[in-house]
Amino acid sequence: MNARAGTLPDGVEEPRVTTAFTQRPTRIRVDLDAISDNLRAIQAHAGVPVMPIVKANAYGHGLVPVARHLQAQGATRLGVAFVEEGIALREAGITLPILVLGGIFGPQVGLFLHHDLELTVSSIAKLRQVEAAAEALGRRAAIHLKIDTGMGRIGVRHDSAGPFVEAALASRWCEIRGIYSHLACADDPDSPMTARQLERFLQACAYFERVGAPMPVRHLANSGGVLHFSGTHLDMVRPGILLYGVLPDAASRPAVPVRPALSLVSQVVYFKVVRAGGTVSYGATWTAPADTRVVTVPIGYGDGWPRALSSHGQVLVSGERHRVVGRVCMDQFMVAIGASSACNEDEVVLIGRQGDQEIRVEEVAAAAGTIPYEVLVQLNERIPREYVGADASAG
Ligand SMILES: *Cc1c(COP(=O)(O)O)cnc(C)c1O
Repeated sequence: MNARAGTLPDGVEEPRVTTAFTQRPTRIRVDLDAISDNLRAIQAHAGVPVMPIVKANAYGHGLVPVARHLQAQGATRLGVAFVEEGIALREAGITLPILVLGGIFGPQVGLFLHHDLELTVSSIAKLRQVEAAAEALGRRAAIHLKIDTGMGRIGVRHDSAGPFVEAALASRWCEIRGIYSHLACADDPDSPMTARQLERFLQACAYFERVGAPMPVRHLANSGGVLHFSGTHLDMVRPGILLYGVLPDAASRPAVPVRPALSLVSQVVYFKVVRAGGTVSYGATWTAPADTRVVTVPIGYGDGWPRALSSHGQVLVSGERHRVVGRVCMDQFMVAIGASSACNEDEVVLIGRQGDQEIRVEEVAAAAGTIPYEVLVQLNERIPREYVGADASAG
């Protein structure tokens, strides 16, 4: 409804306010083709099925559009952290098997069954809760057994796996679809921890052979495992961050040819010259050493852009790298552009390419003193996401 409807002279069309104008000039651009190319590269490298992990809003890339694209591109299963994420996918029409990786709360078991979500069963007590709920609903539960081989998060300790596996095999109301564990140190190709975890995991899996039961799908490798430890690939791999074209750690080897899917762009909203001795932003922590050209960019920590980048992060303006000056505010931050010129509305690239320059999320994370995972997942819903690539308009 437009309040001015009917007030225009005959023949003059109502000005159309399109989404392009109502969206912020700050955008996340997601290249869906990069995600599916990365999926294929990971599949080719590992040689086993891939369960793409789409938890935490698909690592900031947008849960539903990414999941729809992966389903259209032939992914055979998805992984999320929470039952709520699984339900959101079901409500968006995703029909693939979905494994919820997180620990389960007894009162939520019914939700899993109702939405046909696979459960992670991480103790005999949880198994009993699942059995009771499944029996009450008259619906078998699809479960994956979780073994703790050294992560120390959830799961039955590897040296107590025998009774756990036997209890699960004896359960009439649970169908064992998989058995898995999680690697603690796979980001580091030189860590001896991964070999130890693999050995413990295989020992736990051996209980199935010992009792003559069919082996369920064994899965262990996160992105680090995919990259550095081929022995961990087993029957399926579970990459998250690598799917989005980002390496898990500065120590990681780029063993799989992937490319980043996400860029973060904004536009100059203000230009000025700060006189020598003038200060910028809260706390007046930055003082112009000489007359300095400064632009203001309309995104801040309220969008998830790290405040830790204050006075030392970099962005691309006019095809060159320029430094953040002063503190990052909730909704804006300032950049000194040196001798470059910039006009209002000029593009500012925070993550991604501009001309022959590129800022990768790994670099942003290092500058902010954190890991790429955190930078990606903090980019919140205040920033509109725009999708490019083959399936971009299919969703
Ligand atoms: C998040 C998660 C993954 C994916 O981890 P990446 O390091 O992003 O590849 C795999 N498995 C489990 C259990 C997880 O929680």
